[in-house]
Amino acid sequence: MDTQGFDRIELARKLAFGQGGMNLFVADLVQQYRGSALAPFEFWDQMVQAADPVGDWAVTERADRITVRHGNHKVAPDGAERKGTAMAQAVVIGAGPAGLMAAEELASAGHDVLVAEAKPSVARKFLMAGKSGLNLTKDEPFETLLRSYGESADWLRPIVADFDAVGVQEWARGLGREVFTGSTGRVFPTVMKASPLLRAWLGRLETAGVEIRTRWRWVGWVGDSLAFDTTDGRHVIAADVTVLALGGASWARLGSDGHWARFLRDKGVGLAPFAPANSALSVDWSHHMQPHFGAALKSVRWAAGDVQSRGEATISAKGLEGGGLYSLTPALRNGAPLTVDLVPDLDENALQARLSSRKAKTTLSQWLKKSLHLPPQKIALFHEMVKGGPPKPEEWAGVFKRLPIRHSGLRPMDEAISTAGGVTRAALNDGLMLVSMPGVFCAGEMLDWEAPTGGYLLTACLASGRWAGKSAADWLRRVA
Ligand SMILES: Cc1cc2nc3c(=O)[nH]c(=O)nc-3n(C[C@H](O)[C@H](O)[C@H](O)COP(=O)(O)OP(=O)(O)OC[C@H]3O[C@@H](n4cnc5c(N)ncnc54)[C@H](O)[C@@H]3O)c2cc1C
Repeated sequence: MDTQGFDRIELARKLAFGQGGMNLFVADLVQQYRGSALAPFEFWDQMVQAADPVGDWAVTERADRITVRHGNHKVAPDGAERKGTAMAQAVVIGAGPAGLMAAEELASAGHDVLVAEAKPSVARKFLMAGKSGLNLTKDEPFETLLRSYGESADWLRPIVADFDAVGVQEWARGLGREVFTGSTGRVFPTVMKASPLLRAWLGRLETAGVEIRTRWRWVGWVGDSLAFDTTDGRHVIAADVTVLALGGASWARLGSDGHWARFLRDKGVGLAPFAPANSALSVDWSHHMQPHFGAALKSVRWAAGDVQSRGEATISAKGLEGGGLYSLTPALRNGAPLTVDLVPDLDENALQARLSSRKAKTTLSQWLKKSLHLPPQKIALFHEMVKGGPPKPEEWAGVFKRLPIRHSGLRPMDEAISTAGGVTRAALNDGLMLVSMPGVFCAGEMLDWEAPTGGYLLTACLASGRWAGKSAADWLRRVA
């Protein structure tokens, strides 16, 4: 860092970060509603908890009316040319779990940290993840956990080793939040929700001096500086080090819209195309299936390509969704046909023998219900999928074991729990710094890896955020 640069940073620190920490202003509307000035993320979390699964548009619209400002508006003092210009030592863009983790690492290394977030409140996807139980990680041997990252396991090995399932649990406990491990090894906070954890984390970040600005949308670089569109105009910040933690490209209304890709592409950074991961399927159901919308398909085994999954899925008006299907997304993306075993605990020969003993006057549906105890939704799915050509009796067992699911593809990417694609491994060094842009690091779901649900997503986001933050602090030490 040159002397002039240092002076400018010192000046900017005084102007930009020395004026009294976080001030949260919640709109009158919200204060009346709550009767107190709730932290905006808490308000938003309450909206998330209250929303029904398909009604969260309303959540976003309502929450976007909240006015949030952290700290005061800072501008450089010297005239129109640099109006709206400030300096910061470390800038983290994106206040999801990866960005907050990077910010904490940089702050603990003694740096001033500014976190810029486009949405009116932080970590919206993280809070949404907590709506149905925040699955933080998977308590299983490291090598088993690592296998979930597929082709990226080798890349993520040192990163996740540095902050593995044990590390994630210790981190949550360190924030005063107890966790428990469910029967499948999935780890959750005992309260299930994300907001108590996030509240404690934001408190710790504030104590560490991390400054968070919301409604600050990064819109690329101007020269070597970062440009942000904010409620009070364009701000341009010359950061000494930058961590990008901008998320993937699904659930855009929570902030992860993937628009950042164009800024990196313009700089020649290698990007893999986004694709849905952990995605539901579209199925054009006949009207016979309507009574079963919302019903769960349990005790089944799904298969696509060489991947199998015993998890359950739900029949929805749009198709099929649920954890049992999500791990098959990569195979389905590649066009592998999908089948389901409706009776996975009965082998085909035993099933055929039982089918052969069926009395002629008993209909197949009656027999499936009485003898195999199949619930109505499984029987309906069988009839729906064999429609137009019921198999011969001697083929029934095989069809029950490998019922082909006719579908019309994955649901649109914006509905997917997460996305594949993003900044490629080749574009980054081992410290997650862009090879072509020294001083710019990347973390979280914006990197080109994917994993099934089960806590693997948050584990890698937290771990890569921490890794990028540490690497950025190391880099600052070396170049300063
Ligand atoms: C319904 C649902 C349930 C889930 N449940 C789980 C679960 O139980 N367990 C699990 O492991 N994972 C779960 N996930 C996935 C998990 O939430 C994400 O993988 C994780 O939040 C990604 O973290 P991140 O920090 O990389 O990105 P994000 O959390 O997406 O954060 C990125 C942030 O960057 C901001 N941003 C984007 N562009 C800009 C810009 N230009 N300028 C400024 N800011 C910008 C966004 O607004 C956002 O706040 C779930 C996801 C969903 C949708």
